[in-house]
Amino acid sequence: MAYQTIRGTFDILPDAHSSGGSTIQGAAAWRWVEGVVRDAMARFAFEEIRTPVLEPLELVARGVGGTTDIVQKEMFVVERSKESYVLRPEVTAPVMRAYLEHHLEQRGGAQRLYYIGPCFRAERPQKGRYRQFHQFGTELLGSDDPRADAEVIANLRAIYDAFGITGTRLRLNTLGDAADRPAFRDALRAYFAPHADVLSATSRQRLEANPLRILDTKDERERTLLADAPRITDFIGDDARAHYDALKGLLDGLGVPYVEDPLLVRGLDYYTRTVFELESDALGAQGALAAGGRYDGLAQAVGSKKPVPAVGYAAGIERLFIALAEQEVVLPEAPRPDVFLVCLGDAAEAAGFGLAQTLRRAGLAVDFALGGRSMKAQMKAADRSQAAVAVILGDDELTAGVAQVRDLGASAQRTVPIDQLALALTRDAP
Ligand code: AMP
Repeated sequence: MAYQTIRGTFDILPDAHSSGGSTIQGAAAWRWVEGVVRDAMARFAFEEIRTPVLEPLELVARGVGGTTDIVQKEMFVVERSKESYVLRPEVTAPVMRAYLEHHLEQRGGAQRLYYIGPCFRAERPQKGRYRQFHQFGTELLGSDDPRADAEVIANLRAIYDAFGITGTRLRLNTLGDAADRPAFRDALRAYFAPHADVLSATSRQRLEANPLRILDTKDERERTLLADAPRITDFIGDDARAHYDALKGLLDGLGVPYVEDPLLVRGLDYYTRTVFELESDALGAQGALAAGGRYDGLAQAVGSKKPVPAVGYAAGIERLFIALAEQEVVLPEAPRPDVFLVCLGDAAEAAGFGLAQTLRRAGLAVDFALGGRSMKAQMKAADRSQAAVAVILGDDELTAGVAQVRDLGASAQRTVPIDQLALALTRDAP
């Protein structure tokens, strides 16, 4: 084979297929997932936004943050005539850019936005982790109301409920405000410094640049240190605490379950106050179905003069498919044509070609074999297509102005006048 998909990327084909040991669902299943997401977004009055896949490198470097894995090692950078672009690793910074660029605040009120689309990170590919993957997510921009945080979390919950996903845990924490961060960082440095021998090289670097990240370490030895580590809850100011308490009250009121996890910090720099992660038992070590939080500092980090309080989440569609498979949810398969035309002889072929267009104008999905194949080959193709009926047209039928309609499931056959086919078949169509 000459060329293959790039490592960590995959094709979405009409039918499900296997790629690198994982099942990649067919296009119909992807459309269904996207449809369920869109319906839920509509119920929450989130409006769709589509931003480019290419974004300025600076936006991502500043927006996502210089101490993150994404910016330090996972960006796909495109250089072109002195400009540096990146394939977007996430969509929050791009949505904020669009909000600022188009002054979306002028539409009035908080902006409820959602997106669905591909993201790119040069991570080590494995199950549930790709280099081109797909996210859907919300961004609620322009409000610091704790109801905005609750609304976004309720939306996330509603979507996984709509998919029938059970066995999930919503972990919740607050990171306080940016002003609360330095004292917490100092406390973490002071706590971890005497244990530097236990820390990995990565964590020793993080100790300097962003010690909060040590809290979400997966390293067993490091984790033993965490039990006694300083807690953000002891460092946050009154406003952030009141916001967090209000959010928890709202979630309790809605009956949305969550577990507080003071070690949840998230890998992206822009979060303030609320952070959350939706985990599934189905994913095991591969972590989160979705994650999000409040990012009141992002707008100014990417050049806005005014702060734009905002909250949102991003969810991985490949991970959702793993959870769906784990629960044996039956996914839609490629749609089948209503009609497969079988034409015998030149005249029938010519008439059949016109008939196909007539039936399609009547709303039927019509397929036929190309290349003047034998009756047997065409009937085989009709069976393979899983069409509801085969419409058989030969020279004799043509002369009589009729066609044979064969029910492919039951092998029953009847004769129908050609000019009544559209009506007969649309009436029969499921
Ligand atoms: P993040 O933007 O890192 O918070 O990621 C949000 C969600 O996107 C995660 O919870 C995953 O479900 C998904 N995700 C992130 N990175 C990948 C990846 N490399 N491959 C597949 N899904 C991913």
